[in-house]
Amino acid sequence: MKKNSLQIFSEPNSHGYYGEFGGAFIPEMLYDNIENLRQNYLKISSTKKFKQEFDLLLKDFAGRPTALYFAENLSKQYNTNIYLKREDLCHTGAHKVNNTIGQVLVALALGKKRIIAETGAGQHGVATATVCALKGLECVVYMGEKDIERQAPNVARMKMLGAKVIPATSGSKTLKDATNEAIRDWINNPIDTHYIIGSVVGPHPYPDMVAKFQSVISKEIKVQLFKKTGSQLPTHVIACVGGGSNAAGAFYHFLEEKKVKLIAVEAAGCGVNTGFSAATTLLGTTGILHGSKSLLMQTKDGQVVEPHSISAGLDYPGIGPMHANLFKTKRASFIAITDKEALNAAFNLSKSEGIIPALESAHALAALSKLNFKKNDIVVVNLSGRGDKDLNTYMKYL
Ligand SMILES: *Cc1c(COP(=O)(O)O)cnc(C)c1O
Repeated sequence: MKKNSLQIFSEPNSHGYYGEFGGAFIPEMLYDNIENLRQNYLKISSTKKFKQEFDLLLKDFAGRPTALYFAENLSKQYNTNIYLKREDLCHTGAHKVNNTIGQVLVALALGKKRIIAETGAGQHGVATATVCALKGLECVVYMGEKDIERQAPNVARMKMLGAKVIPATSGSKTLKDATNEAIRDWINNPIDTHYIIGSVVGPHPYPDMVAKFQSVISKEIKVQLFKKTGSQLPTHVIACVGGGSNAAGAFYHFLEEKKVKLIAVEAAGCGVNTGFSAATTLLGTTGILHGSKSLLMQTKDGQVVEPHSISAGLDYPGIGPMHANLFKTKRASFIAITDKEALNAAFNLSKSEGIIPALESAHALAALSKLNFKKNDIVVVNLSGRGDKDLNTYMKYL
């Protein structure tokens, strides 16, 4: 399609739209906050001071650059060349800290003294509490009452890091209810508080800001791949998509390189048509969720459908607007992986490479068996996180 060849996939337009998706659909009482962020996030993040501190914290605090690891045994299994981008080696165990470091620095530059966040499984809450501890910022994390029970170790981590964890007791007592509580808090505390969203979702400028902070992943892949293969460009990049931040980071610098195949992997849960799934692009339609227009799972009258996935990080009823556009324009292919397939892939990686992946990342690994590779292909799988947090689930299958 001619239109697509001219389209820039990585940048939204000035209103925050990627193609037909994005924008800022917000309550009037948040307008000043979001507008202040929109007018300043690019200015702040392009200053020398910001860049120096961001790069230093990514390096010495988060442990970047993360390795690009040639997985020899996995490569033999699939008769191709497979590299793992090791976001599992980041401090706190996943890519999420890249974004929380960036947003805490933006919040400080805006003069904010208090940080709020929502969290489902607790990974984003832990990453936020971690950077707030480092910078001496007050941190309040909203979490569904049900999730607080299910994710006790992460609740303990946040508390140990000095954050206050407030239960969301309305509705299904899970992530979306925690998000509502965080928004309510922000409306009540507009001056001193910054709200850190954990994925490439939410009203403009969040999807773009988070994508840019995570884009360090593909920036490093290019340099590392060149050193190892003599080419900056892989043939395939594979990443799982919950809201889509690790995928946005892994795809970012390849989005305009049409030869690089981008594969986004969603959670099929018990199966796409079982009613227990989180495969948004297969099951979703266009609508508005958490402040932006995107694809989401909803009933005919617009009620959000409860998603299901064995991995808490993929258990989300929508995807970020950048990914909705990549789907719509066919720039990326979307694959859905069941709970069972992900579990198998997690056990396979553990045994064949000595790396226990997060259940989310296991979905990306499972996609390897759904694709056909040539012997000379160079395939990068973004290993978004490590599996420590999922041991309770893995233990049931040992
Ligand atoms: C949170 C999380 C995800 C899903 O979030 P994205 O924004 O889609 O990246 C994936 N992997 C891990 C390890 C996570 O913690």
